[in-house]
Amino acid sequence: MLKYNSTRSNITAMPSEAILKGISSDGGLFVPEDFPKIEVESLNGKSYEEICFQVLSRYFHEFDQGDLKDMISQSYGKFNTKEVTPLAAFGDLNFLELYHGPTLAFKDVALSILPHLLTASAKIQDVDDEIVILTATSGDTGKAALEGFANVKGTSIVVFFPNDGVSMIQRKQMTTQSGENVHVIAIEGNFDDAQRGVKEIFSDEDYNKLLKKNGFVLSSANSINIGRLVPQIVYYFDSYIKSVESGKIKMNDPVNFTVPTGNFGNILAGYYAKNMGLPINKLICASNDNNVLFDFFKTGEYDKNRPFIKTISPSMDILVSSNFERLLYHVSNFDSDFVKKAMDDLSSLGKYKVSDEIKNTISENFYGNYCDEKDTLKTIKNVYDKYGYVIDPHTAVGCKVYEDYKLETGDNTYNIILSTASPYKFTKSVYEAIFGPSELDDYTLIEKLSESTGLSLPNELIAMCTSEDLHKKVCDSHKMKESITEILL
Ligand SMILES: *Cc1c(COP(=O)(O)O)cnc(C)c1O
Repeated sequence: MLKYNSTRSNITAMPSEAILKGISSDGGLFVPEDFPKIEVESLNGKSYEEICFQVLSRYFHEFDQGDLKDMISQSYGKFNTKEVTPLAAFGDLNFLELYHGPTLAFKDVALSILPHLLTASAKIQDVDDEIVILTATSGDTGKAALEGFANVKGTSIVVFFPNDGVSMIQRKQMTTQSGENVHVIAIEGNFDDAQRGVKEIFSDEDYNKLLKKNGFVLSSANSINIGRLVPQIVYYFDSYIKSVESGKIKMNDPVNFTVPTGNFGNILAGYYAKNMGLPINKLICASNDNNVLFDFFKTGEYDKNRPFIKTISPSMDILVSSNFERLLYHVSNFDSDFVKKAMDDLSSLGKYKVSDEIKNTISENFYGNYCDEKDTLKTIKNVYDKYGYVIDPHTAVGCKVYEDYKLETGDNTYNIILSTASPYKFTKSVYEAIFGPSELDDYTLIEKLSESTGLSLPNELIAMCTSEDLHKKVCDSHKMKESITEILL
């Protein structure tokens, strides 16, 4: 039976325990001790939900199979398209649209099902405390988690977002969230401050004991939770099968995926898919101006000592990519001492270096590059002018890095670009990239963008613009614990 290891010690956990805890008590992340295998041919003709079942049942074997099927259909039935994650093809650009869920970003794919996985895990683990979800967000996780957990019995959720670090629409989506059990707090600081604060609360043993005494147990909806990562593996398989079915590739042909990357969760799911048997050649890691990963791929040194740059692709404004820790553990053959030392160095010195051997193993699987602000805007415009297709700034970063990859390597392997957000989440940037500067604000531009491009307008968005702000709290990034105490105790 598949178990999960902590990346930082010899702690192990069953799937339900790993999902429920979110993070290991030693500060490490849970990873599967082995990669379950899937024969790609066996997925031929299967729907998204069926492929989802094939993937999830291999990782989360404790759940009753009928229950798991119910969870899957409840989660993905809420998406705006029957295919869940459709592919849109223009020339050699294949966009995997991951943003047709309730909050218009790819985070919905995992966060629609996570509440089900968590409550089922609590049952298996015999936990009847209230599960308190703590989440740090660079913009999209927060809303997707709020939507997923709102009014879910036995849970409550607290979301922290950087006060100046999210788009106007992202902010409005969160501050208008209704639900008995939801709390949204802006912090004075950036995403890394929010993420560090949340991690500190998780590893504060005394505080966790105090909460437990009062009937609360903390869990995480961030991509450090293995219950977030595994559902993201599904669309790598599903888009491969769709590409075979449409005749773009033949079964077992190699493919590349290009992934706009921040916390390294989405692209890591691709690495998992590869290790499960999907014929992936290269995973192309696209960063914005916060290009720590690009430098790592070049030098083997991960160095976050640099200014944090605010960009028009804010969900990727991240200097500490949490899920990279999982990759280090896998490529070092489960060397938890090495990972622990690297993570200690990262927190004390802000950097660590890996051996040439590890660097080379990573380079066999990944290619990294980045795209600056000017090129992001230019790419949105180019794609629109050429194909009449509108992409968001994150997806544009991916698109540009894919073009650079082809030029640099000459590799013309069939490639899928993960399209991570609806253009409407970043209306102003997208509108201005295509039509030039505008005095108008995001709300007004939503309709203009729709009229000018013919891009269909999601109903949720229209409703949101006129909703009232329900959450107005702002706190210092060093006072996050205090604000949780205020809410719960
Ligand atoms: C979260 C997010 C990303 C980055 O994904 P990671 O898993 O953190 O690497 C990219 N684009 C958008 C729109 C996102 O919301």
